[in-house]
Amino acid sequence: MTESSDSNPRTTTRRSALRYGAAGAAAIGAASAGAAAMGAGTTLPALAAPGAGRPLTQDPFTLGVASGEPDAGSVVLWTRLAPRPLAEDGFGGMPRRNVEVLWELATDERFAVVVRRGRVTTGPDAGFAVHVEAAGLQPGWEYFYRFRVGQYVSPTGRTRTAPALGTLGSALAMSFASCSQFEHGYFTAYRHLAADEPDLVLHLGDYLYEYPANTYVSPDGNVRDHVGPEMESLAEYRQRYAQYRADADLRAAHAVAPWLVVMDDHEVDNNWAGDVYEKPEYPQPDFIQRRANAFKAYYENMPLRTRSKPDGSAMRLYRAVSWGSLATFHMLDTRQYRDDQACDDGWKVCEDAKDPARTITGDEQEAWLLDNFRSSTARWDVLGQQVFFARRNSASGANSMDAWDGYRGSQERISEGWVAASVRNPVVLTGDVHTHWASELKANYADPDSDVIGTELVTTSIASGGNGADSDPSEDPDLQRNPHIKFRNAQRGYVRTRITPDAMDVDFRVLDKVTEPNGKVSTRASFRIHDRKPGLDPMAG
Ligand code: FE
Ligand code: CA
Repeated sequence: MTESSDSNPRTTTRRSALRYGAAGAAAIGAASAGAAAMGAGTTLPALAAPGAGRPLTQDPFTLGVASGEPDAGSVVLWTRLAPRPLAEDGFGGMPRRNVEVLWELATDERFAVVVRRGRVTTGPDAGFAVHVEAAGLQPGWEYFYRFRVGQYVSPTGRTRTAPALGTLGSALAMSFASCSQFEHGYFTAYRHLAADEPDLVLHLGDYLYEYPANTYVSPDGNVRDHVGPEMESLAEYRQRYAQYRADADLRAAHAVAPWLVVMDDHEVDNNWAGDVYEKPEYPQPDFIQRRANAFKAYYENMPLRTRSKPDGSAMRLYRAVSWGSLATFHMLDTRQYRDDQACDDGWKVCEDAKDPARTITGDEQEAWLLDNFRSSTARWDVLGQQVFFARRNSASGANSMDAWDGYRGSQERISEGWVAASVRNPVVLTGDVHTHWASELKANYADPDSDVIGTELVTTSIASGGNGADSDPSEDPDLQRNPHIKFRNAQRGYVRTRITPDAMDVDFRVLDKVTEPNGKVSTRASFRIHDRKPGLDPMAG
């Protein structure tokens, strides 16, 4: 089946959704001075329970709202209270006591038909983050949600549930992004991603960067500064997340659709691997504590389910999320369990990288993923992960030791695994490299005539690296040297896809500039991946 009868019509949602996000959130926020803003026809229980302390006197919803991890009957709703986001103690200007937060979820943007509501308590231990798993929802449905504390009402978020298991649902609009260095550029790409009103957003890591102000400078110069020192303490991670989350474009992207997130390296420390930190020359005796701080702040700031709540320096982030039987998203963690980079990291010609004992996923995650392949009934099996999957040879024959090329055994076991399991449409999604790439994955990269066994789409950065530059793919030496790689562009942007039972349509979206606030967006290249035919069919622009 191609259309599910229980989907609410997209036509109404398309129009209405423009009213929240960046501009709309401000409008609702401005109207939030009284409970009346919770909407006509809605009666909310009084909040001021005895002993709840003095009411807040400043809007705590500066970080917006988010949702994530949709399944057919539930979704995570998120907010974090921070009247003063940049407060150095990481508590966002909240008084150090527990606070009761009211939430509600409706089928309409005016909250005339509220289908779920409840109260949760948050406080200093949780960094004033709120995670609600709203359950008992209809499959394939659009919902609106908001929060309230005292007299303050949050902006409205829009979210969706996945189609029912066993159904294909309607076309899925999924966009994905990575690498948003706040100092390197404005988050205009997030604004355009939101304006497309996708059903689902994937973020593949480097959501924020750890550096102190002006120490990682883009070739175009930095346009704004990080607050705080290099993130190491929990307070420092919390403060930096708040700085990013207060950005209006990022808030709009979170408010428009549910997200599936995985972290890469900069959420902790550049190029960390397992329990190994970046630079041996600057010893970090407390790296495991730092990692625990980073994981806790990550969980607090992302719309994740309780199952991903970290236990000290361990966090179960890899998981599979099904969008009916149209697509399964296998969200991977290629940092936490990997062996240290071979040959001292960097770009190397490195025999050790071929050692089959080396792993980028860890044994458990690998077995889990191979098992997923064997039991999959999805039309599209999508790997949401961090680092470059396809072989990529430099002019000297070197490979990136931080990417799957530095872990050849893993690269082969995973791709051979999906071939052996006859996975119908394997697609790998990637971030990390601040450049758009599109590749055909090969059974044997050394043999140009070998089978195409899958497709990889790599998204450029949202802002990291500054404006970047366009180039002519037909003259790109990287593409000539690696004939399985079909496209590359080094501007900033994101990737937009539309997934149906028959095809995945892919638009590589780029911005002319991120160093000015209103960069123009365009589609630099489009490809179609056909059902049962891995590889890239170029589409006319
Ligand atoms: Fe990055
Ligand atoms: Ca990275």
